[in-house]
Amino acid sequence: MAANLVHIQSDAEIKERLAAERVHLRKIARLDPPTHFHRPVERAFTAEQRKHVTILFGGFTWKHEDLIRAVFQGCGYRCEKVPVPTVAAFQTGKEFGNNGQCNPTYFTVGNLVQYLQLLEKEGLTREQILDNYVFFTAGSCGPCRFGMYEAEYRFALKNAGFDGFRVLLFKDSDGIKAASGEPGLKFTLDFGFGMLNAMHLGDVLNDLIYQIRPFEVNKGETDRVFREAVDGLCEDLRTRDSFEIEERAPHWAKPQFKSNKVLRNTFNVLGKWHENMWGQDYLNAMRSAQERMDSIEVDRTRIKPVVKITGEFWAQITEGDGNFHMFGFLEREGAQVMVEPIATWVAYLLYQAKAHAIAKWPVNRPHSNPEWHEFKKQFANYIGLRKKLWGIGAGERMWNFFYHRTIRHLGGITHHLVPQAELAELAHPFYNQYARGGEGHLEVGKNVYYTVHKLCHMVLALKPFGCMPSSQSDGVQSAVVNKFKDMIFLPIETSGEGEVNAHSRVQMALGEAKVKAKTEFEACLKSSGRSMDEIREYIEEHPELKRPFYHVPHREGVAGTAAQFVLHVSDRIARETGLWKRSRVRIESVPVVSGD
Ligand code: SF4
Repeated sequence: MAANLVHIQSDAEIKERLAAERVHLRKIARLDPPTHFHRPVERAFTAEQRKHVTILFGGFTWKHEDLIRAVFQGCGYRCEKVPVPTVAAFQTGKEFGNNGQCNPTYFTVGNLVQYLQLLEKEGLTREQILDNYVFFTAGSCGPCRFGMYEAEYRFALKNAGFDGFRVLLFKDSDGIKAASGEPGLKFTLDFGFGMLNAMHLGDVLNDLIYQIRPFEVNKGETDRVFREAVDGLCEDLRTRDSFEIEERAPHWAKPQFKSNKVLRNTFNVLGKWHENMWGQDYLNAMRSAQERMDSIEVDRTRIKPVVKITGEFWAQITEGDGNFHMFGFLEREGAQVMVEPIATWVAYLLYQAKAHAIAKWPVNRPHSNPEWHEFKKQFANYIGLRKKLWGIGAGERMWNFFYHRTIRHLGGITHHLVPQAELAELAHPFYNQYARGGEGHLEVGKNVYYTVHKLCHMVLALKPFGCMPSSQSDGVQSAVVNKFKDMIFLPIETSGEGEVNAHSRVQMALGEAKVKAKTEFEACLKSSGRSMDEIREYIEEHPELKRPFYHVPHREGVAGTAAQFVLHVSDRIARETGLWKRSRVRIESVPVVSGD
């Protein structure tokens, strides 16, 4: 009994024990406020650091990345792109990152860690790396794991020994702005317009390279010419003069602009807008890129199945181990790849912003249930939503206008942006458009859209292992495939390993797509009533038909490039010989589902 007694030696010990017990009991009774997570305070990237700090970024195609880097450099930043992530980067991401992440997290996080380790190997100390480099990336609040990327970067960097390395988020002004004084990365008008140009140019060039390369006559020519074309456009973006009204105004008007800030700013906005969109240097750079690309000789009579790429944002863009080098593999297997522009994603975000604003308005409107005679309140409810929709609508129209304008200036053969309303409508019977995260309803919508409009022979969805929204899409794609008898759809999970298995599955589906493309081509040739020799002979006599930017009008219901081309050449022959009769192809229609 005596052994169980606790001997308290002093008053101080009693107080100490009492205090400990009080804390214990308060905790059980949940009387104290919980300790919330606070985002770590980032060391500021200040304007003074611009000269020695290099901004790192990555995750796009080489065309986008080179153009984006040129914009950064043109705005006075030191900037470098990190290499395309490899399987080794994926493994580094797994080593230093959390468990249970999606595939792009491991690839991109591991890639950054690897790059910093490389800098260290080259002789930089960790302190120098922390002081002289920052990483710039996109951020989100979810709902999928994209919302955790920033935290993942920090976690893995800390585990790899780079604690305190700065990760700047595009959406987040806190990390970009300095605590005081001028921020290190400043979103100026020049920077914004430059980025707009870079994104659109990158998308258009990316689409073009996949349209031209499968048909190039001289192997390797497309890659070489596109390298030169991108370099020329980068040079323009890098060396573009910043419009300043105080410098451009006539001598007599300069004092006005100096003294009147509002006048100066207004003219500067208009001038910069004009210079970045319609400036002679920019138009010349695009013209020269177009001329270069148009010099590539193509043979459009090659029969190739058109494979539309959809899937998760990163997996469908990256050109490396992240999607098993899928685009190169498809081209080697004889396919024509139809890539997805980043612009579709932005258009989707704008469309969703509008749809959500309408759906939430009954809750968000300023007056919940105004009486019929309360006209002021009724009007406030009406105009509040309209103002929102007009604002987003204006953004949508501008985005579309500038994208399609870039297409016109670079040959005019790039695919146009898909109408978002139609995508949502086509997807809605299978995937609710208000279900957010990842690509949302886009994967399903695009699959249906490209099939019913006969714009491709096969849809290949690239989705990373562990991607939550893509798993949902896959769940409904089986119902979609059952509704459309013509659809060849293959989802591929890109897991970092298993490349051989993925390639062999693609090969099998591609076999079917090749048969489809060949059958379509033969039907078109037959309907034209001409032989291939006749068509080829005509092409030889008309060298403009070997130019990539020669415009072949789109024939409804025909997906293949070669099939479209022979129909067009046949029509030209008929017109010249005076025996004009448009070749008719019987197109079997794909039933559009009602939504049951
Ligand atoms: S969309 Fe999928 S792969 Fe992309 S961040 Fe979200 S969960 Fe990860």
